[in-house]
Amino acid sequence: MPRNVVLVTVDSLRADRLSCMGYGRMTTPSIDALAADGMLYRRAFSHGSDTGNSFVTLLTGVYPGTADVWLDEPPYNPPLPAHFPYLPAAFAERGYHTAGFHCNPLISSRFGYDRGFATYFDSLDVGEAHRRRPLHKRLKKRLRFGHPRIYRGLMAVRDLVLPQRVARVPAGEINRRVEAFLDGAPEPFFLFVHYMDVHVPYLPSPELLRELTGRRISRRRMTRLNRAVFEWRADLVRDVGDVIAMYDAQLRAFDDHLGAFVGALRKRGLYEDSVIALTADHGEQFMEHGSLKHDTGIFYDELLHVPLILKSGPLGTSDDLVGQVDLAPTLLALAGLEPPAEMAGRPIDGSRAAIIAESRARGERRVAVRTMNRKFIWNMATGRTELYDLDADPAEAKDISEERRDGVEAFRAIAREHVEAVGRKAIELKARGIGRGGVARPGPGPRR
Ligand SMILES: [Zn+2]
Repeated sequence: MPRNVVLVTVDSLRADRLSCMGYGRMTTPSIDALAADGMLYRRAFSHGSDTGNSFVTLLTGVYPGTADVWLDEPPYNPPLPAHFPYLPAAFAERGYHTAGFHCNPLISSRFGYDRGFATYFDSLDVGEAHRRRPLHKRLKKRLRFGHPRIYRGLMAVRDLVLPQRVARVPAGEINRRVEAFLDGAPEPFFLFVHYMDVHVPYLPSPELLRELTGRRISRRRMTRLNRAVFEWRADLVRDVGDVIAMYDAQLRAFDDHLGAFVGALRKRGLYEDSVIALTADHGEQFMEHGSLKHDTGIFYDELLHVPLILKSGPLGTSDDLVGQVDLAPTLLALAGLEPPAEMAGRPIDGSRAAIIAESRARGERRVAVRTMNRKFIWNMATGRTELYDLDADPAEAKDISEERRDGVEAFRAIAREHVEAVGRKAIELKARGIGRGGVARPGPGPRR
């Protein structure tokens, strides 16, 4: 019997916040236990700093720049082109039963991500609610951008009188749906679960927060801080340590649900033999480079460095440089299946020389090249380059592109070569895809 394959992704989970990655707070006992049962990749990176650009690669095995449809307005999300190779579809074509559970609109059926799934829960009402933006939302948007002072005043009053709303489906509810699926699941299956619980707003219980971090933060203050994070209002955050404490406690609370998910697999005898991967779409910023949350085209390690655990047999930790473009082919190979030839990634086998991240939002194409000890960032529209020596300066605080012009030129050549290869891949995929349907075109929708 071929092995079942489980892919768990956690939105906005920074690699260095896991206790098994050496973080000072005990944030992730359950994730640590999973890591102890498999291989923990300590240098794994995403290819985008936002949900859309990261997921398009994570699930297709081709780079974000290959997507020929990009949005120039929020949410800047490249929808999944119908002619791309796609991990769930590859499993389905090879006889696997496929199921996905999550609540992030950017990887919903509206963006084409339900392809190949026999069951796909994305919590989205694709009906009337999303065809037309409700009046109050349109008014809110007008106020926010047209009359920011009035908007902020109204929001402050709202925060005082109303509890903070969380639009996501919590992990407990996702787990209940996953368990219902597992009870009658035909094998072999490919199961994809994406959790939003670590994503802003961070709303842990004040008791857990105090127990984990020693800080006392009232719910009201959390609400105010969450609004600042949501709207990238760094000026409203006096002590970023509070925001970090909230994130850490939220992660600690989520970790119990991850433990429950693993328990659900164990209870049904599905844990031992399954291939299980855990990773994140991107990290989160806490003012390291002057900003909060996450956004497209910001290529510092706080956003690109992601956790990666592969439970497939071998145990231990790896310091190889690994990119998520290789994850889809790796999961297929671990199940004994041949990855589609169209995928640009290949099953993980040692260290990659460089990991490349991309974004093409707001009319600007940006590329980053990360090696073991260098980070190069290039805004191809403005020509601006940055170069960091990660050995001497892991925080990427001192740009050395001026004194290392030769280094800049070498990296620019790598980036240019990548962009050309991606262009060729786009043409190749398009040619193969002719007659296989068009591209999913999303309607207006919420931003994550
Ligand atoms: Zn995300």
